[in-house]
Amino acid sequence: MIRYAEALEILLREAPAMQKLREMPAVGQVLAEAVVSGEDLPPFDNSAMDGFALRVGAEGARGGMEYDVCGAQAAGDDAAEAGAGCWEIMTGARLPQGFDAVIPVEQVEVLVRHADDRPQRIRLNADVPHAQHIRRCGEDVAQGEAVLTAGTRLEAAQMMLLAALGVAEVAAAAPPRVALINTGRELVDDPRQPLASGQIRNSNGSYLAQRINDAGAELVLRETVSDDEAAFLAALQRALDAGAQVVLSTGAVSMGRYDFIPDALRGLGANLHFHKVKIRPGKPLLFATLPDGQLFFGLPGNPVSSAVGLRFFVEPVLRRMLGLPVEAPLRLPLADGYRKRHPLRFHLKGALAVDTQGRLHARILPGQESFKIAPMARSNAWIVLDEDAQDLAAGASVDVYGLGHLQAPSLAGVHA
Ligand code: AMP
Ligand code: MG
Repeated sequence: MIRYAEALEILLREAPAMQKLREMPAVGQVLAEAVVSGEDLPPFDNSAMDGFALRVGAEGARGGMEYDVCGAQAAGDDAAEAGAGCWEIMTGARLPQGFDAVIPVEQVEVLVRHADDRPQRIRLNADVPHAQHIRRCGEDVAQGEAVLTAGTRLEAAQMMLLAALGVAEVAAAAPPRVALINTGRELVDDPRQPLASGQIRNSNGSYLAQRINDAGAELVLRETVSDDEAAFLAALQRALDAGAQVVLSTGAVSMGRYDFIPDALRGLGANLHFHKVKIRPGKPLLFATLPDGQLFFGLPGNPVSSAVGLRFFVEPVLRRMLGLPVEAPLRLPLADGYRKRHPLRFHLKGALAVDTQGRLHARILPGQESFKIAPMARSNAWIVLDEDAQDLAAGASVDVYGLGHLQAPSLAGVHA
């Protein structure tokens, strides 16, 4: 049986290279190349206030000075040339050439108005330093500046920046195409269908499908098949026809009489890289390469085993395919001591919580058995203890991972 580190090395060796697409930017894309700005932001000098634009020189202007109002500039107006006096100016309006400061409307007194109420002459009620309330061209982003690095995932804030810079196309990693085949004659997919004797509901399927999506991949096929090699092989063929680069199965990889996956793969001429890893839960995990190069993960059927297989075996491969580096865990103190009596790498349902002094710690939840789903719904992080770890005292540092590789360990729903 191999250790996790060895398994990870094999996975990363076999993972296909990232494929680049040139696309319109969209939330969820992972950048394959840095974005270099083709524009200045702001694109021109403009006013940060509704007020009056002035020429004050290096010394600035003193309160009490009076100016004639010789023009007006609103957002959207073209470039203008400043003459004598001052101009009324609106927030975001292009600063007329020659002005070098803006005084807010609240800091002036209008002495004379035109018949239509526009200001004609004003007095400053405050000193005006040079360059006050001017947003400079390129002050936020200069043309030619690299604003986002390769490996950045686009979310609302990145989309705002790309929108501001007029970026219509980015190089993004092609989402890995993944297929999911649940096996088990006991499985029922339809939640409205009453369970017959011996049946259970397919709980893995919806979890894994959602997680595959959350991991930045595209689910190209999802099927449930009975413990029937021919049915499985037919589903596998449909997965490959749908363009899957990575195929996941659940169930039928252990030592039971109906655990047909390893033999089915051998029959196809697949290359089995490993079957069984020193981990808990999910030890019987299998990894193979299919004859045409697609990757195959045989995940054990227990819900938590399949979740661990996805998170710690499949997701590292998806990261590689997205052009992302190998993940590093957070290190956090354990809330309570823990007895660990097996030389396996443990992947534990964890909950981050904050103590009375506001310090974060990691709690190992009760109910770690691989069939127990209820604690999964209370867990906001994975706590990982390596093979060699033994009994741990409260306060010992442990590795903590987010629920998915693109999610930081979450504090949502944390109770002290
Ligand atoms: P297997 O790996 O096929 O031996 O399954 C191990 C355990 O997980 C058995 O108790 C199965 O009934 C259960 N199981 C298998 N597939 C699923 C699934 N999709 N959802 C929930 N439980 C499952
Ligand atoms: Mg089974």
